Amino acid sequence: MRCHIRRVVYVVVAVVLIQLAVQLLFLMQQRRPATLTRHLLAAHNTGDESWGICNNKRCNPVKADMLNVHLIAHSHDDVGWLKTVEEYYTGRHTIPYSKSFVYGKECIACILKSVIPQLLANPERRFIFIEMAFFSRFWNESDTKTRANIVKLIRERRLEFATGGWCMSDAATTYYNDIIDQHTLGFNFINTHFGKCAQSNIAWHVDQFGHSREHSSIFAQMGFDAIFLGRISDQDRNNRKVDQNMEHIWNASPRNLEDRASLFTHVNHEGYYAPKYFLMEGWNEDHILLQKAEYVDSFLNVVNKIATFYKTNHIQIEMGSDFAYSKAHEWFSNLDDLIQFANERQATGSKVNLLYSTPSCYLHYVHAANFTWTEKNDDYFPYGTGWGEYWTGFYTSKGGLKKHVKDAGALLQACKQLNVFTSPHSGPDRVQTLKEGMAVLQHHDAITGTEKEAVVRDYNKLLSVGRHSCQSVVSDAYKTLSGDVHQPKQEFCPLLNISSCPPTEKYSKFIATMYNPLSRSVTSWIRLPVTKSEYRVVDPSGNVVPNEVLPLSESTFHIPERPTSSPKNDLIFKVQLPPLGFKSYVVESHSDAEAGSKPQFMPIYSNKMKISNNLLTVTIDKEWGTITQIANVESGIFINLKQELQYYEGMSAALKPSGAYIFNPRGVTAKSFHSSVITTVLKGKLVTEVHQNFSDWASQVIRLYDSTNYVEIEWTVGPIPVAEDYLGKEVIAMYKSDLNNHGKFYTDSNGREIMERRRNHRDTWVLEEHSPVASNYYPVTSKIFITDPTRNIQLTVLTDRCQGGSSIRDGEIELMLHRRTTRDDNLGVSEVLSEKGQDGQGLILRGKHYLFIDTIEKSARLHREMSQQIHLPPTLSFMPLRTSYEEWQKNHALSWSGLQNALPDNVQLLTLDTVPGGNSEVFLIRLEHTYEVDEDKQYSVPAEVSLQALFSPFQIDEIEELSLGANFQQSEVHRLKWRTTKGKVTPEHIGHVSHDPEASDGMTIVLRPMQIRTFHIYVSEPKKNFLFKFFK
Ligand SMILES: [Zn+2]
Repeated sequence: MRCHIRRVVYVVVAVVLIQLAVQLLFLMQQRRPATLTRHLLAAHNTGDESWGICNNKRCNPVKADMLNVHLIAHSHDDVGWLKTVEEYYTGRHTIPYSKSFVYGKECIACILKSVIPQLLANPERRFIFIEMAFFSRFWNESDTKTRANIVKLIRERRLEFATGGWCMSDAATTYYNDIIDQHTLGFNFINTHFGKCAQSNIAWHVDQFGHSREHSSIFAQMGFDAIFLGRISDQDRNNRKVDQNMEHIWNASPRNLEDRASLFTHVNHEGYYAPKYFLMEGWNEDHILLQKAEYVDSFLNVVNKIATFYKTNHIQIEMGSDFAYSKAHEWFSNLDDLIQFANERQATGSKVNLLYSTPSCYLHYVHAANFTWTEKNDDYFPYGTGWGEYWTGFYTSKGGLKKHVKDAGALLQACKQLNVFTSPHSGPDRVQTLKEGMAVLQHHDAITGTEKEAVVRDYNKLLSVGRHSCQSVVSDAYKTLSGDVHQPKQEFCPLLNISSCPPTEKYSKFIATMYNPLSRSVTSWIRLPVTKSEYRVVDPSGNVVPNEVLPLSESTFHIPERPTSSPKNDLIFKVQLPPLGFKSYVVESHSDAEAGSKPQFMPIYSNKMKISNNLLTVTIDKEWGTITQIANVESGIFINLKQELQYYEGMSAALKPSGAYIFNPRGVTAKSFHSSVITTVLKGKLVTEVHQNFSDWASQVIRLYDSTNYVEIEWTVGPIPVAEDYLGKEVIAMYKSDLNNHGKFYTDSNGREIMERRRNHRDTWVLEEHSPVASNYYPVTSKIFITDPTRNIQLTVLTDRCQGGSSIRDGEIELMLHRRTTRDDNLGVSEVLSEKGQDGQGLILRGKHYLFIDTIEKSARLHREMSQQIHLPPTLSFMPLRTSYEEWQKNHALSWSGLQNALPDNVQLLTLDTVPGGNSEVFLIRLEHTYEVDEDKQYSVPAEVSLQALFSPFQIDEIEELSLGANFQQSEVHRLKWRTTKGKVTPEHIGHVSHDPEASDGMTIVLRPMQIRTFHIYVSEPKKNFLFKFFK
């Protein structure tokens, strides 16, 4: 007996010891070696920083007493434009519908193959390369010897990456989240293969059609020292040349991030092409040698002219062009001669010194010159050239592609998150394809709509292939998280916007799962095309959800891309979704009339008709059928507002026609349809709809959902008729109110900070205005608003994709929805902007505006929250349900959240992603403060976030703060300091300021308004799960 007790005691002691040992082991595992991040960030950094851009001694030397002319050998390689990405890379004709193909004329692989031996042949020569979309492929296809040569050239700073993003992203139509991601992708590639001294410290933005403040702020937060611009308005450039103000400090976030977002800015003397007569491709190798004196004289004339535009004794001359250097020997041999012969003249008194250089070497010398620079707070929009030629059409051009980028971007964020939560690093990377596709689409001839239509089709294909791969990630994630690996695959519906969705149409009982990629709970209205008239919707807790079945608008049936068999009704219900999580709703067609409600057609019974919910009242004019007034019941305010679709006729004269880039309307007033809009009014319990037809090619549905504080306007435009009058038409939504905005209006910058715009005005120069409409158009990536300070009212319109917008007359907001032209605008694309659509008649586009009216102080919260929901809507997918709801619910998790607690209302999780070369213990996160300084009383204040107990699937043991591009530890970034004429010195460090309060555990961080903080997080499973597993 005693023996037995002793045995029991031994067993208990042994179990306790094992537990202690396991816990000790667990605790030891928690602390990751501090060197791990460093290893990841600088795989090839051996501690020797005397190479690449880390070592300025590797720049070619300059002469202190001379004018130093930095010759920049570069090739401008569009990631798709007149040809597809594939065609440009290979130089081969791969896609049959690309008619304009000329063999071998553009070939990025040929350029790199040609440049590398030329750089090896002469250690003085330099070359910069920009687009990692191309370079990564070249690297992957290169043999060992070529790779060794590339590494040698990078280390010796003879080959430099400039910017280093996946592409040279557009600055007007892109969204900040996508801009950050596409650069992170490029930086990842550089870090993985070459290390941190190969990363660029300058941004090379030479072909964008205007420049946003937010994009430059992003560069500053990434640790860049400067941006080089190619295109700014002619008037602005001419003034800057005269004032020697081509270089300055750009305060890219003056209200919020202040000096931390300042960026030294260099405006190229003229675009990015080599000076006229010095495009050396096509020359023989001895061209300059043979006609030495004449060419050297002529080049020095150019040099002396350019030198008058800049302050220091350094100037930069770009020696390249589009797709240049496929015959690199012609460029380099002639540049060798030019440099030699020009510099020989120094012996006889010339004070000009030519050298091969790079923008970052140029910057190094300009910085060393220690000058004082002017400051600039506004942006470089809109871009105007020539006599009244404004590049403001591309803000809207090819709106279908622009929306596809938004949809794919939303899926990508959900896909990255679910991948981290469920299957990081297991099997092939299924997220990469969409990451690369989205990165390519940020290119300045992709999302802009300034490429040929054949290329649009290729871009759409790239996105579709990526989406397909990400859909499988989402589908598998649900299998893991719901607890049933055998559940059917999810089905997705990319045509939901035109009410076509095979699974909701064919299954009489199905599960609709919605994943919310935002880090706060959201309420969202769901619309699903259905074939029956009565449905029962049940939420994860078994509650019946009120729903309604509504007939579709008439215009929906005329969309040729919509399968003819598609249904005639939409099922509508409201869902509430957890942060970073999903809910599954069971939807079943039902014969019980109580399951859903039926809307009623409402008669128009008086001169004015009111539709309302508990928050808003919208008054409709009986005669015209248009909105005439909107009242915010809660705030007790109203505005008189006439809302209608209108159109400009595009200029079709040969001189300055409207085209893919240019918006040039005939006249200064948009045309009304001058017809009563035949109105159908459907009144339901959940939603009231007003259907309006302005013509047989322009219609709208005004929607007012129950307890919702905005008016939704769904517009459908096309096919825009041009055959009869041969006039292009550019359709706008006009919001004409009785507010007095005193010539001021506000637009977002890449979906983030708000820019104040003043009609016929530029902050830093006097505008000679030649085009009263087009010169006042600005990119509206997510929102535009006007305010009337006297009445304390703000009218805000949110868009679902980038559109051009303005306030041409006081009280008005207009947004351009869709355009079709009859001429090309002679800027290179050589194709009329006239998308035909599936039936060849002209593409029909559909989209949404969200209209808010409230007091000025309440409005920021409305548009900030809603624009996040528009940018990252829930990801919807479906599967049939073949058992009863009860049976299914017993064995499946129908609701799940990746967050333990929602983040504060002014903080968003911008990124949750795997780390290349990492494992399932390290991830990348970005947290952003979503409000600006002084925007909202409650939310425009620093926010505190505890990281430790943030996620539910894992706990964070250690964090390491990085630059915004995730390619440097934040502490190792040292930016160049610049003195300004306002007596400031720009700061050396990036990121949060040192006096920000940080909790002592190091796991609680503070975000200031508009700040984004980037971290590698080191994670382990939560303790309770671990112990639970052990003792189970
Ligand atoms: Zn370009």
